[in-house]
Amino acid sequence: SLGKCDLHPEELELMEEVGSGQFGLVYQGKWNGQKVAVKTVREGAMSEEEFKDEAMVMKTLSHSKLVKLLGVCMQRKPICLVFEFMENGCLTDYLRGKRGTLSKDTLLGMCVDVSEGMVYLESNNYIHRDLAARNCLVSINMEVKVSDFGMARFVLDDQYTSSQGSKFPVKWSALEVIQYLKFSSKSDVWSFGVLMWEVYSEGRLPYETQTNQDVVQQLNDGMRLLRPRLAPDDVYQLMQWCWKEKPEDRPTFALLLHDLASLIDTK
Ligand code: ADP
Repeated sequence: SLGKCDLHPEELELMEEVGSGQFGLVYQGKWNGQKVAVKTVREGAMSEEEFKDEAMVMKTLSHSKLVKLLGVCMQRKPICLVFEFMENGCLTDYLRGKRGTLSKDTLLGMCVDVSEGMVYLESNNYIHRDLAARNCLVSINMEVKVSDFGMARFVLDDQYTSSQGSKFPVKWSALEVIQYLKFSSKSDVWSFGVLMWEVYSEGRLPYETQTNQDVVQQLNDGMRLLRPRLAPDDVYQLMQWCWKEKPEDRPTFALLLHDLASLIDTK
């Protein structure tokens, strides 16, 4: 069982720092000869007991478009979460770095990759809760994979977990999440629409100049993000479908994947 925590600290080698996240510093590392990413957890940043049980569930989630959790090391502090290493870093930075050079086929392919990972989560009744380009990573082969699924539940920071908090991802959240914290695969679909907008905006921030409060007001008034210049009409229609007020009026990920894939075929 994971009670003893599957992964031995002596098998794990930490190398250079590659980033910093909600829980703490992230390192490149080596585990059993394999390049890995090691997320260290700062004291007090995570609800560790609850995570321990969930880590076992998360380890069973396995799909080529999900960033794989290889193991957790809880025997000593700081706790380490070990993931497959993603050479090209987070999707937002990747998009910004390649601005002006990515073809529409590539942008569509990124959306297809993410929707494939999300179809898998949806079919396992697993809710991501914080889907956004910053929580997707790009592999050495330029595939985009979904990361950090379900992790939002273990964050111990009111600024992040309360919809009034300064770190709450309001600009990616469905109305029912902002209002009642009602998470579902359909609220993930809303976030996916925003992620599609980020992809087609080459990594721009949604509602860049507006405050969270302005955004909530506008969403309630029925306003939505505008079509990015690189997004064809049929792609923008899918985004708008994701942002329907009623969750039941939004598509499933299975349907989104089907429609996105059919747009590749017609090119
Ligand atoms: P958070 O917990 O805030 O979501 P992230 O998961 O975004 O933190 O991690 C912070 C940064 O660490 C990322 O932007 C990325 O640069 C790097 N990183 C995280 N996971 C990996 C990984 N599996 N492979 C390579 N780099 C990673």
